[in-house]
Amino acid sequence: MTQTDHRTEEQHMLAGGKKPRVRFAPSPTGLMHIGGYRTELFNWLFARKTGGEFILRIEDTDTLRTAEGAVEFLIEGTQWLGMDIDEGPGVGGPYGPYYQTSRKALYLQYANQLIESGHAYRCYCTPERLDAMRKEQQAQNLPPRYDHRCRYLTAEQRAANEAEGQRWTVRFATNLEGETLVHDELRGDIVFQNANVDDTILLKTNGLPTYHLAHVVDDHLMDITHLIRAEEWISSAPLHVQIWNALGWEIPLIYHVPDVLGKDKRKLSKRHGAPSWKELQQQGFLPEAVVNFLALIGWSYDDKTEFFTREELIQAFSLDRVSVSGAIYDAEKLAWMNGVYIRKLSIEEMAQRTLPYMERPEAEGGLPDGIQRPLDLAYTQRVLSLEQERLRTLGEAAHAVSFFYTDDWDYETPLIQKGMDVEGTKNALTRTRDLLKGLDPWESAGLEEQMRALMTELGLKPGQFLGAARVAVSGRKATPPLFQMIAVLGRERTLARIDRALASLG
Ligand code: GLU
Ligand code: ZN
Repeated sequence: MTQTDHRTEEQHMLAGGKKPRVRFAPSPTGLMHIGGYRTELFNWLFARKTGGEFILRIEDTDTLRTAEGAVEFLIEGTQWLGMDIDEGPGVGGPYGPYYQTSRKALYLQYANQLIESGHAYRCYCTPERLDAMRKEQQAQNLPPRYDHRCRYLTAEQRAANEAEGQRWTVRFATNLEGETLVHDELRGDIVFQNANVDDTILLKTNGLPTYHLAHVVDDHLMDITHLIRAEEWISSAPLHVQIWNALGWEIPLIYHVPDVLGKDKRKLSKRHGAPSWKELQQQGFLPEAVVNFLALIGWSYDDKTEFFTREELIQAFSLDRVSVSGAIYDAEKLAWMNGVYIRKLSIEEMAQRTLPYMERPEAEGGLPDGIQRPLDLAYTQRVLSLEQERLRTLGEAAHAVSFFYTDDWDYETPLIQKGMDVEGTKNALTRTRDLLKGLDPWESAGLEEQMRALMTELGLKPGQFLGAARVAVSGRKATPPLFQMIAVLGRERTLARIDRALASLG
């Protein structure tokens, strides 16, 4: 077999001359963390790039592990990220149903077909026997493997077992000798020794299939042309190839995209603090920033371009440039990228998107509850324009700007600056108040000019004079640029705060 690592994008697109059909096939066993959407995004981008179809299929056959609400959560997250589904739950489509538990009869049909053709068999082993077998193998340091006991039962023995009412599973009868070649479009040929492929269960005692049978059947029946899934499935791929071959079906082009890893190079999980899409939304990450960030986990356009709009991503995406390793989820990078995206917003859009975060209840991260909602839009635009440079998430805004809306705060940092005393500070603030009282017009350039002149006159350093003014009007050490801040706060509020500061000095 030839290496086709260098298949061109056109060849990727026109697998067998067909329009691409790709699927994302999650198991709703929990609330998927954000890393899980990376694989979905690759599928979606490829479909949009090629004019193909993007299918969402819910692999819910492990009913014991199905988590309440997981499918809804997944679909909402998909929508939040802006990935539209061509076929799947909620939208339907000609290849449905798209929940595997609704396709049960199909799997039974193909399991039976495999039994008839000698590629599968009923296994009557009890959980106790399988458990003992596994322990024995462990003790001998052997890999866990079914010992083929039921593979060679006679028709009479099977009939007897069933007459006794023994429960059965269906196992795949793997090829015992030789090798199975998995051709991965990203990794080339991967060769597996058949002796290492387990006679894996295809159908469970409850009649539901395992992933191995279900996805092969569905990828075939749903006409999937490109199987794009995470690297964690490589070790099962020889089994899948054998099942495809046993059913006589054409195998889709297979792409094992790199697993999303934490910074410790282990598979990303909740343990790494990997957030869900919902948590990111609540913190004020922009979905377009998250999409851009996710696209770069295991894919790159070149060695420098990092920012892509959705349209640009669709144009730029190609499976050729998906890497085979090194797909690291870097939360710091996401926060940085999100900040860049926030700075790209017009102030009108930024305010419109930040308002809901500021107006939510204080307990959920909003402004103090004492501040009246709705907020004044024009004022909020001016306030946020001062913070736009510094915010990394929209959720940070409420804390950063709360002092623009309320006087109900304590000084976070001392009013009296280094090298100053009470009298000097009082004098500086009194002179500032008198200056600001008559300042006209009230805008930052004039404020700056006049205040700097006063500072020189008083012989104070910027850290001292401007520092005291900053704390007096905001209570804080870190704020937006002082003169712009005072300009936005307005005369009345500024003077009142200076008076308050003076009062606090006695
Ligand atoms: N149900 C599998 C999972 O959630 C899907 C793997 C695949 O894409 O084939 O990991
Ligand atoms: Zn058995």
